[in-house]
Amino acid sequence: MIVGIDGPSGTGKSSTSKAVAAKLGLRYLDTGAQYRAITWWMLHHGIDIKDPAAIAAAAGRAEIVSGTDPSAPTITVDGTDVAAPIRTQEVTSAVSAVSAVPEVRARITELQRSIAKEAVPGIVVEGRDIGTTVLPDADLKVFLTASEEARAARRSGELKGKDAAGLKATQEALARRDAADSTRKTSPLAKAGDAVEVDTTELTLEQVIECVVTLVEE
Ligand code: C5P
Repeated sequence: MIVGIDGPSGTGKSSTSKAVAAKLGLRYLDTGAQYRAITWWMLHHGIDIKDPAAIAAAAGRAEIVSGTDPSAPTITVDGTDVAAPIRTQEVTSAVSAVSAVPEVRARITELQRSIAKEAVPGIVVEGRDIGTTVLPDADLKVFLTASEEARAARRSGELKGKDAAGLKATQEALARRDAADSTRKTSPLAKAGDAVEVDTTELTLEQVIECVVTLVEE
């Protein structure tokens, strides 16, 4: 059983995917964490992230390992646990540029396919291009959406203590990242033709989880 869950930031992809995997006894892969990890590695090694040729040349050097237990997912690069540093503002601002480089996508896509192939008894894979590019033969494809306001509010809730100006800045940063992810040439953020779209704007997390579990069981 392979389930692909795509959608823009702040739609509840991670929480939903982890919970669905845990409920159904499947493995879980956060592909955004892999793009963040390679971005962290580029920054850590002083690669100029404005230089796609430099990123392409270095793309094969980082060894990324993802742990796929939904109750305790892990991510390491060259043996270093990067679960915390990949969530910094520095990495978040740089990740769209790094993940737009075709050599980076080829490397990470290959890794994702091999993890999905080996997952027993199956896996929930969340990202931006899982249904269209990484796993076009997935048993179920889900595309999560939500209004821009709802997505920014959820992300700000995660960042606690933000005022109105902070909320606006979060909304703008999210919109910029989604625009970059949706317009890049290689496998952009997109809904697969055979994906089921779920608008989460008015739904609680529990309702979204229930909805996806029902789709898997149908
Ligand atoms: O899901 P998350 O927000 O952690 O993803 C971080 C970034 O990784 C996205 O903004 C996007 O640039 C990139 N990404 C991607 N393809 C995926 C998953 C994430 O390009 N399948």
